[in-house]
Amino acid sequence: MRVKYCKLCKKDFPVIFRIQYNSTKQWVFTCENCLLDVKENNSYYRYGGTWKK
Ligand SMILES: [Zn+2]
Repeated sequence: MRVKYCKLCKKDFPVIFRIQYNSTKQWVFTCENCLLDVKENNSYYRYGGTWKK
């Protein structure tokens, strides 16, 4: 299972973040860049932890 795989840019990263960023309230894994992208002015954003290798 590829846990450390960014759902948004679809690459593997050594550190990945678990977040919610839209109204589906599903937890997704993203890299830091994508996290910062979706987090901005986003009232759905919720942080669920950092996953490291
Ligand atoms: Zn990403």
